[in-house]
Amino acid sequence: MKKPVYLDYAAATPLDPEVLEAMRPYFSEKFHNPSAVYLAARQVSQDLDKARARIAAWLGARPFNIYFTAGATEANNLAIQGVMRGFPDSELLVSAIEHESILAPANLFKGNLIPVSRQGIVELDALKRMITPQTALISVMMVNNELGSVQPIKEIVAIVRGVRDERKAAKNNRPIYLHTDAAQAGNLFDLHTHRLGVDLMSLNGGKIYGPKQTGVLFAGSDVEIKPLIVGGGQEGNLRSGTENVAGFIGFSKALDMAQKSHAQEFKRLTKLSDYFTEELRAKIPAAIVNGPAKHCSPHLLSVTFPGSDNERLMMELDERGIQCAVGSACSASRDEASHVLSAIGLEAAVARATLRFSLGRGTTDEDLRGTLRALCDLTL
Ligand code: PLP
Repeated sequence: MKKPVYLDYAAATPLDPEVLEAMRPYFSEKFHNPSAVYLAARQVSQDLDKARARIAAWLGARPFNIYFTAGATEANNLAIQGVMRGFPDSELLVSAIEHESILAPANLFKGNLIPVSRQGIVELDALKRMITPQTALISVMMVNNELGSVQPIKEIVAIVRGVRDERKAAKNNRPIYLHTDAAQAGNLFDLHTHRLGVDLMSLNGGKIYGPKQTGVLFAGSDVEIKPLIVGGGQEGNLRSGTENVAGFIGFSKALDMAQKSHAQEFKRLTKLSDYFTEELRAKIPAAIVNGPAKHCSPHLLSVTFPGSDNERLMMELDERGIQCAVGSACSASRDEASHVLSAIGLEAAVARATLRFSLGRGTTDEDLRGTLRALCDLTL
């Protein structure tokens, strides 16, 4: 049987064999609890420290600013709830196209959604107007997981710094932090938090060819944050529980590989996604590629096939061995039109005619040629 064409890398990436190799000893001979005091356990603890230091180096951070979590959902919850619980009379602003793991915790607090343009980019003027003296946290993702739109983080950092200066002059002691969910950015973008200027960042092992249920929250030293999970005091008391040593060693190796190759992989995927969109426009003129032409991650393509039913089209593609998505993997399991597509102004019927193709390390020209052939057969 022919190998399926996998075009859902935004939902999950396969574990890289080198990552698996790095993890293997921690399932067997190096199984010890890193908090134990005998030599073998201390060695495991040192290995974990090294992994944390490697991650910190890529993020331009100090090792004690890196908190291991069970995935990006937990890192996002820790960022939103952990900060907002410390400032009960504060408000937060999050973009309207955030992942549910930001929107749901944000909903527990007072705040508002920052609108986005038709291309899925945060409206900076609206953001400026929406910041009040009570705003303590802003959360805007680096790359949107349905459209691939790359958000203007550096411009938002400049706005936040301006607000800090104004507050200083007005003797308003409330902090204002900027968090970014970088779950979709690790393979293709620089994650150096110092160069970016963000205060908090979430990452996800399962999207960078590492293990699922591993993640990291970076939180700068001046960020006041409270734990959501209390117990033995691991992770600087911010996330208790015996560490997932094999998972975090794997995360560190995966991040290392992803960050070393991000510029090269960006170029390779840009060529592939340009080819796909040009061919699509030529062969299926009615198809509409959503998201921005310029500030877009090349691993994500959101395409509307007017008049089609995206679930049926996705199943028909699956029958032909092509795996793609009808939106994000999470909203795919519910019968709702995507909040991201509705935030960019697509009507529910149009959103339900939209598929997401996401590319990754294994994607080839031939995969895309086959997908285009199948799409022509099924939609023309
Ligand atoms: N944030 C973004 C942008 C994502 O794309 C995802 C997963 O699709 C998550 C957060 C949540 O990741 P996980 O379900 O692995 O915790």
